Amino acid sequence: MNQICQNINKIKQSIPANVLLVAVSKTKPVEDILTAYQCGQRHFSENKVQELVDKHDKLPKDIQWHMIGHLQRNKVKYIAGFVYLIHGVDNLKLLKEINKQGNKIQKKIQILLQIKIAQEETKFGMDENTLHEIIQQYKAGEFPFVEISGLMGMATNTTDGEQIAREFKHLHELFQTYRNEIDSFKYLSMGMSGDYDIAIKEGSNLIRIGSAIFGQRE
Ligand SMILES: *Cc1c(COP(=O)(O)O)cnc(C)c1O
Repeated sequence: MNQICQNINKIKQSIPANVLLVAVSKTKPVEDILTAYQCGQRHFSENKVQELVDKHDKLPKDIQWHMIGHLQRNKVKYIAGFVYLIHGVDNLKLLKEINKQGNKIQKKIQILLQIKIAQEETKFGMDENTLHEIIQQYKAGEFPFVEISGLMGMATNTTDGEQIAREFKHLHELFQTYRNEIDSFKYLSMGMSGDYDIAIKEGSNLIRIGSAIFGQRE
């Protein structure tokens, strides 16, 4: 069996059945994605709109595409029609634009709100006040063409496992609070190649794995 398949199988065997494995295929060629597809992988993610659109065009149509990373408002229209889940929604203006594009095509677009849990300045994400305000507006029926499917976060890039666990635990608590109020809440997206084991222990049910499947990126 090839290396990509072996990696996927190994990860799948080590995680609980309720955790969704999303393969992060950014920068990798379509051949690698097809290899993963042929061993059963269906959820893939990209962080650049152009690359996502190109790969969606070329690859089997039953792939579920996730947009991770920063999304510019003026590019939402290129992915609205086919994207399965947009992870990195970290501000109200972007949310409104997604709602607008959903309205145009009469489709409810699934998104995750990205929360800043890391200490680093460079990590994107909204603070909790903004989260709370957005949730109140959502509950009041604004954004009818958006489905807020849960939360996403990235831990600090550190070797301190306790700090990572603390950050994930905090996000899980937020997730549980809102899950009790909002039916559409189902995904807690946290954990990458280096920290997904900690993330799952702290309650993640969606992990985004790149290098541990496809190897290091250039
Ligand atoms: C690149 C990326 C990943 C995957 O990172 P790996 O360490 O290669 O698993 C996960 N999430 C986001 C948001 C990314 O940009």
